[in-house]
Amino acid sequence: MNNKNHMRIEFDSKSENESFIRTVIAAFLVGADPNMEELNDVKTAVSEAVTNCIIHGYEGKEGTIVLEATLCHRDIYITIQDFGIGIADIGQAMEPLYTSKPEMERSGMGFSFMEAFMDTVQVKSTPGEGTIITMKKGIGRNAR
Ligand code: ATP
Ligand code: MG
Repeated sequence: MNNKNHMRIEFDSKSENESFIRTVIAAFLVGADPNMEELNDVKTAVSEAVTNCIIHGYEGKEGTIVLEATLCHRDIYITIQDFGIGIADIGQAMEPLYTSKPEMERSGMGFSFMEAFMDTVQVKSTPGEGTIITMKKGIGRNAR
């Protein structure tokens, strides 16, 4: 049996798609037999990244977001990509409590949550071209 499974989904940058995408990634992750905590961790990390694409990448305007996920044995690799404004200073953006939109009552904790809930988080971004977030998590590492 082939132990690798890949999916790719492209959707509009609209807040109504956030819950849809949480459900999609949860359904895909079932193949790795996650516990509730692992399932919630991955859903939260994905939803933080997607919210960032909508609010920051496209600033509420039209755009396309691409979610890709690969299951390899029980490791999940996820990428979330937008083609929006990009991030000039990635180090600053990833600092806890840093937000470029304090007036929107953002708390600047999105990247911190992604890092807390996933094993690794990588950010690649080019101003004017977009941003791609790559995250990995091993499922089933902790005793149940
Ligand atoms: P919170 O997630 O707590 O609501 P936030 O979105 O501002 O607040 P982070 O998710 O940690 O906090 O993101 C930090 C900053 O990184 C954002 O304020 C924004 O400036 C920048 N950023 C994050 N994702 C993107 C993106 N996809 N495109 C452009 N800028 C982004
Ligand atoms: Mg955020």
